[in-house]
Amino acid sequence: MSLYFFEPTLECARQLDQNDRLSRFRSEFYLPPTSIYMDGNSLGLLSKRAEKTLLESLDDWRELGIGGWSRGNHRWFYLSERLGEMSAPLVGAAPDEVIVTGSTTVNLHQLVATFYQPEGKRTRILADELTFPSDIYALQSQLRLHGYEPDTHLIQVRSRNGRFLEEEDIIAAMTDEIALVILPTVLYRSGQILDMERLTKEAHARGILIGFDGCHSIGAIPHSFSEWGVDFAYWCNYKYVNGGPGCVGGLYVNRKHFGRHPGLAGWFGSKKDKQFDMEHTLTPAETAGAYQIGTPHILSLAPLIGSLEIFAEAGIENIRRKSLHMTRYLMDLLEHELPNMGFVIGNPRDDRRRGGHISLEHEEAARICKSLKENGVIPDFRAPNMIRLAPIALYTSYAEIWKAVQTLKNIMEEKQYKKFKNEREVIA
Ligand SMILES: *Cc1c(COP(=O)(O)O)cnc(C)c1O
Repeated sequence: MSLYFFEPTLECARQLDQNDRLSRFRSEFYLPPTSIYMDGNSLGLLSKRAEKTLLESLDDWRELGIGGWSRGNHRWFYLSERLGEMSAPLVGAAPDEVIVTGSTTVNLHQLVATFYQPEGKRTRILADELTFPSDIYALQSQLRLHGYEPDTHLIQVRSRNGRFLEEEDIIAAMTDEIALVILPTVLYRSGQILDMERLTKEAHARGILIGFDGCHSIGAIPHSFSEWGVDFAYWCNYKYVNGGPGCVGGLYVNRKHFGRHPGLAGWFGSKKDKQFDMEHTLTPAETAGAYQIGTPHILSLAPLIGSLEIFAEAGIENIRRKSLHMTRYLMDLLEHELPNMGFVIGNPRDDRRRGGHISLEHEEAARICKSLKENGVIPDFRAPNMIRLAPIALYTSYAEIWKAVQTLKNIMEEKQYKKFKNEREVIA
């Protein structure tokens, strides 16, 4: 039996909100007027500051035309580098080890094209069977480009229970046939945090390079990529970082690799002062900026300026502390209010292992999600049986968590979900 850390009352939730030192950030966001948003792990909400910096970039375009690249509010030519600097504290890297560019999948392609250098019998890539499909598609296609069959050359570590990965199993698969390891920082379904420091140490001890997909951890938990010696990482900025739909992603390359020629080269990877020499020989930047390809998508970068300012003020350590407290609170309420209703909490309980969301498993999950939405609670569904709920430290309140659990309790007690089909929608 787990302990109940909290009183299951609305008064207690309100007290927690009053004691919350990050509560002032809530008013910076546009919250949906009639619903409780628990899906910030898929698409973060718009903040007023992100809106402001986007509109400032539109002003620059309107007033300066091409002059916006070098003048105006945000000097577009340097914006990717500036945002890299602003992102660096979120991943624990030096400012020049991070660049905001591309998208998650494109950045993975770039990094594999750069760091996967099969040699002798070291020709395989190690990943896992629980990772996000786009990562697997990218790895399969990179192997094919090298003339290898993904069936034999992409090794996917198995999960023992369909939820979690064991570091021992991953380490055991780091054989002398592995050239590169690509793993998630946090698993997108169960929310398990992998021990990145340990895995990096073990990979390096075997002469293997290692990179991480940080989509489900950036903006939710702190990282120490430089200190751990992680070779590279990549992530999106539209989930916990609140950069907006399709926001430009980010990548990190450890400085020991600076100077490595980009696998997918383009003119925005140039040293800044050489770029407009227009030579046909690329002189790559001596920073993570070398792994940019073409012209940055300014209007999809601009909201990040405001958003990352909020992170700088709130502090990722404070965000993590509150996020853990909120997910603990949510789990306690679920157990207290919904015992014997067929729910299983499928995420790690341990604070060192739990990411930013709760994964609630149930046979009827698809239609329970539909019923939640009808009742003004926005979760997300992952087939076949998972409801993900993410209270976001910057904008979710404890009272909302309490209300969301009461709504779910009501749906279950009244069997309201039965009026929907238990199937996922096109976008889940
Ligand atoms: C969201 C997510 C992606 C999405 O990739 P895009 O290229 O941004 O569409 C990839 N990997 C993981 C783990 C994700 O959570």
